[in-house]
Amino acid sequence: MSITDAPVTAPVGGPSLRQERRLVTGLPGPRSRAVLDRKAAAVAAGVGHTVPIAAVAAGGGVVVDADGNSLIDLGSGIAVTTAGNANPRVVAAVTEQVARFTHTCFMVSPYESYVAVAEALNRLTPGDHEKRSALFNSGAEAVENAVKIARKHTGRQAVVAFDHAYHGRTNLTMALTAKNMPYKHGFGPFAGEVYRAPLSYPFHDRLTGPAAAARAITQIEKQVGAENVAAVVIEPIQGEGGFIVPADGFLNALVDWCRDNGVVFIADEVQTGFARTGRWFASEHFGIVPDLVVTAKGIADGLPLSAVTGRAEIMDAAHTGGLGGTYGGNPLACVAALAAIDTYEEDGLLERAAEIGALLTSRLTALQERDPRVGDVRGHGAMIAAEFVDPATGEPDGALTARVARACIAEGVIVLTCGTDGNVIRFLPPLTISDALLNEGLDVLESALAAA
Ligand SMILES: *Cc1c(COP(=O)(O)O)cnc(C)c1O
Repeated sequence: MSITDAPVTAPVGGPSLRQERRLVTGLPGPRSRAVLDRKAAAVAAGVGHTVPIAAVAAGGGVVVDADGNSLIDLGSGIAVTTAGNANPRVVAAVTEQVARFTHTCFMVSPYESYVAVAEALNRLTPGDHEKRSALFNSGAEAVENAVKIARKHTGRQAVVAFDHAYHGRTNLTMALTAKNMPYKHGFGPFAGEVYRAPLSYPFHDRLTGPAAAARAITQIEKQVGAENVAAVVIEPIQGEGGFIVPADGFLNALVDWCRDNGVVFIADEVQTGFARTGRWFASEHFGIVPDLVVTAKGIADGLPLSAVTGRAEIMDAAHTGGLGGTYGGNPLACVAALAAIDTYEEDGLLERAAEIGALLTSRLTALQERDPRVGDVRGHGAMIAAEFVDPATGEPDGALTARVARACIAEGVIVLTCGTDGNVIRFLPPLTISDALLNEGLDVLESALAAA
């Protein structure tokens, strides 16, 4: 019997997992390698992976692989397991629900948990106006539905997205997404009536928020025409695009322009939502009230769920039967969302996100003072990034960034990169991580940068 055939007892996940970085093999170890070999033979090549392991358990601030390696988790499966993997409240809620019923289709036989998620979203999203919500499966699906709703409400077709935007991988959301490789390359033709406007990117454009907004608005008015625009879609802080925090006043000016011109302002809070930035939603950092808010990722702590929430008169523009889907608002995902929301509220996780942000920011800005390759440190709460540049030219250094990220992973620290130039390392730890693990993860990053 080879080592990979020997039975292994996977540890139970959740916060009771030993909270430590522990490497017992190089990565991947033999058991993980066996799974990755089968992946190469069975799974389409287009589905890549960042960390060369086969995960068997996760919780608190660690991910454990099939060989018994324990990695520090600074990614949360891309900002999803915000309340911690295998969170006990989520596990209990899903376990109870799965034994009752797994699916009826909400459009056939409705159930209470879906309604309760809609009520929670209507309560928690910015603004105290009358709201409605609809539930879907993925972030991209929810963005598409927000655009459908805005078009129906306005009777207009054009949709404006921004430089560096990421909104998903379906046909319409590929059109909204800015970056060609890997998201769009060879996958066209893309959906029509999508237009791109310049963003506010203070580290590079040095523009004030109002100046950057005026630049974008002029371009929209000249190239599209305000009266043709159904919706402006924007991430309040861009995720895949590089954790770009717009200059103060940029989003506010866009919201005002939308109000004045009958355009629906859609905030894509798929990555920024649900306690991640130290507020329920990143829009709150800028004092804006979007017409529609799109959520997914952190909404249900890992179960697939997404939502569109917004002004009742806009949301109700779609005729009965016009919105939905077989699985949208699946009961397992809905009870997980309610348990995750309880956890954010009862465990003080918004405050914890702010603390994590303060720790990450102080360590990374100290590093920036010592090392000019760290060009910029930015973000809010547990959504912080460092942008790497060539100190001689100020140009993005994607190659350095990739080397540093690879070295961190090899040392048992899961980090993710982002940015149009791939020169940003982003930190998205679960809010259940300890300060000790966070600090150890940053120690590893500092050594990796020193060696790179
Ligand atoms: C991840 C993401 C999406 C797409 O969500 P999926 O669930 O992968 O379809 C959309 N918008 C933003 C801002 C995202 O980060």
